[in-house]
Amino acid sequence: MAFFKREAAGAAPAEQYEVRKPDAEWRAELTPEQFRVLRGHGTERPGASPLNAEKRPGTFLCAGCGQALFDAGTKFESGTGWPSFWAPLEGHVGTTTDRSLFMTRTEVHCARCGGHLGHVFPDGPKPTGERYCMNGVSMRFEPKAE
Ligand SMILES: [Zn+2]
Repeated sequence: MAFFKREAAGAAPAEQYEVRKPDAEWRAELTPEQFRVLRGHGTERPGASPLNAEKRPGTFLCAGCGQALFDAGTKFESGTGWPSFWAPLEGHVGTTTDRSLFMTRTEVHCARCGGHLGHVFPDGPKPTGERYCMNGVSMRFEPKAE
């Protein structure tokens, strides 16, 4: 039941990420929108991601480094226009406190490359009560092999 374990994810300083690249390299590998969100802490337009409608079994991976982030079994329809999950794969994401926009929110990033994924809010469904509100552009989906 690894999904249910709460993670004491500290904010890893940038130099501790396993995958580290200069911005120029990220810019060459990512689309401009991916770069804006993953490396620049941007937010995609709600409803913009085809991953909103993704309902197959499988795994959501980091679009930056390919690390598995969420199992499709934890995805739920939040009605926000962003792909939402009630738990990440344990240890695969990290969080930091984000005080921008006059709010205190918990920012969520890939634990391997530090790429910005979205935010987590305490108003999700059972069993965790958490809502990982993710940018679809920060992820890609790998359907489960038959
Ligand atoms: Zn990553």
